[in-house]
Amino acid sequence: MGLCFTYEDYRVLLTALLESGYEPARFEDAQCLLARGKRFVLLRHDIDFDLTAALRMARIEAEMGIFSTFFVLVRTEHYNPFSSDGSRMINELLAMGHRLGLHFDCAAYPDASVEELNRQCGREARMVEEWFGVEVPVVSIHRPPPFVVGSDQSLTAPRLHTYMNHFTKQIHYLAESRGLWRFGQPLESHAFQTGQPLHLLIHPIWWREQAVPPVQTLYDFIDGRTREVELSVASNSTVYRKKES
Ligand SMILES: [Zn+2]
Repeated sequence: MGLCFTYEDYRVLLTALLESGYEPARFEDAQCLLARGKRFVLLRHDIDFDLTAALRMARIEAEMGIFSTFFVLVRTEHYNPFSSDGSRMINELLAMGHRLGLHFDCAAYPDASVEELNRQCGREARMVEEWFGVEVPVVSIHRPPPFVVGSDQSLTAPRLHTYMNHFTKQIHYLAESRGLWRFGQPLESHAFQTGQPLHLLIHPIWWREQAVPPVQTLYDFIDGRTREVELSVASNSTVYRKKES
């Protein structure tokens, strides 16, 4: 089946999971569900660029009675979870029953040791917990360096991280990136066909109303963000006049 990256394709994917008896699960429950032989799916969204795109995925899931975990970056130039709009969108996700995780970027701390990264990860996670009034028991590492993949909990302890072996080895892990399923389509996987637990990484930016090439998605994102900056500047300064082009 030629599933693409449209909202309709996402609904088809979720419907197939539900009809095959998969239940959405929290990362912190995965070990226990594995031990009990449950059929479950960890739905993970790493928000690299755009909270608005994440909110669209969140609404689709909520309409289908599904929850997932949204991992937010704190130290990014692309959005601000603590801004007025950013917080409103994240609170809307939470009100729908979705979970919040920290998306942690090691590159924001060049040359830091694992101990130092652990300390900074804790700081970021506590900021998110304090601001949104929720627990953040799981961290996803943005563009994980090689030492992260399959590593133990020491980077993020006492929190879990999504590249620990029990999320990527004991559970069948499929990641979508730049509009491609890198390790094959979920519904074609042996794991899905035999009812094994799944961990699906979805980046909301790539999913659209219509199928478009990934580079067009990025152009559209940049255009949208430029308009937002322009509106924000105009509403904060009477000096601003749009340039004639
Ligand atoms: Zn990321």
